[in-house]
Amino acid sequence: MTKKSGVRDETLLASGGRDPESNHGIVNPPVYHASTVTRPTLAEWQNRDYTKDVVYGRMGTPTQKALEEAVALVEGGDRAIAVSSGLASITIALSAFVEQGDHLLVTDSAYFPTRNFCNNVLAKYGVETTYYDPLIGGGIADLIRDNTKVVFTEAPGSQTFEVQDIPAIAEAAHARGAVVINDNTWGTPLYFKSFERGIDVSVHAATKYIVGHSDAMLGVIVTTDAHYERILNNFRYWGQHAAPDDCYLGLRGLRTMSVRLKQHHENALVIANWLKTRPEVSRVLYPALPDDPGHTLWKRDFEGACGLFGVVLDKHYDEDTLAKMLDGLELFAMGASWGGYESLILPGKPVRTATSWNAEGTLLRLHVGLEHPDDLIADLEAGLQRLVT
Ligand SMILES: *Cc1c(COP(=O)(O)O)cnc(C)c1O
Repeated sequence: MTKKSGVRDETLLASGGRDPESNHGIVNPPVYHASTVTRPTLAEWQNRDYTKDVVYGRMGTPTQKALEEAVALVEGGDRAIAVSSGLASITIALSAFVEQGDHLLVTDSAYFPTRNFCNNVLAKYGVETTYYDPLIGGGIADLIRDNTKVVFTEAPGSQTFEVQDIPAIAEAAHARGAVVINDNTWGTPLYFKSFERGIDVSVHAATKYIVGHSDAMLGVIVTTDAHYERILNNFRYWGQHAAPDDCYLGLRGLRTMSVRLKQHHENALVIANWLKTRPEVSRVLYPALPDDPGHTLWKRDFEGACGLFGVVLDKHYDEDTLAKMLDGLELFAMGASWGGYESLILPGKPVRTATSWNAEGTLLRLHVGLEHPDDLIADLEAGLQRLVT
């Protein structure tokens, strides 16, 4: 499907990547399980084009391509590549643009495994990473060197939720020929339009809101025609692959993402506003709140907020006390990941090297799910009472 002018996001979510006429009129693209893909003639074998055709299971089945088409349409990129996880989307995108002797700039608020990859893999191959203050904005220009190939952003930041001035960062990066890669997992293809804000490569943990039901690992890289082949080649070199069943789940999740996100946003606002009234809470880190330090940038650059935010408690609680609060929660479960329909809570421990994180109290990360907010409030209220009694 090509981009129809004037068609809105909800319509693209419902129609992107679908072609019932080529499949007996069946609404959803089928799951193709494949390794071998045969060609009837030598000429067709010799002329297969991996940038367009289905050539081998590892290079993507029609199920994968349907997901890629839909995500690219919604985010406004030219092409997308589905990969095995959100982390794989980051590692493949980063390693596509750097080589020995190069330098890259990564926000100090990045998702921790991104930092792991830079420090433990890229460093091993002679690529140097400098971490920068997420709030640096156009000041990033001072950190860009002649060998800086990539500026990596993530907004809002993992655990700490600072909103970066991405257009200003992108302008400075482009002036020096660096590519801007953004982890857009929080913003999703729906709420942060990367390609209108100067991003060259947008990476997603589709595991989160795109899949939306906590039952698959999936990543998507969205980019422009200018960078597509370079990333596609790197995807081939690394042997990364998104499994067809998981692509199907991603595509199915995408169909309802706009209604789910609206409800996550609404529920999260109710919970965040309620938390702000609590004596055990010092601050809520959620850019959708008007008094959040990132609110102005969020309002300028985002079209909505998801259900993930941070809470700084009034003081540092020891582990036993924190356990009294968290162990007894009935609706908020403790577990990695987010973006499913269910609520989650975890203590946070941001790792910083360019800046410091000195919050006045214990940091918690909440994912507000699709349960009724009054029930979630009752659960949290009982938990906060256990914290202080
Ligand atoms: C979860 C997450 C990832 C990694 O996604 P996986 O699918 O778990 O590999 C990347 N970035 C952010 C911001 C995340 O929250």
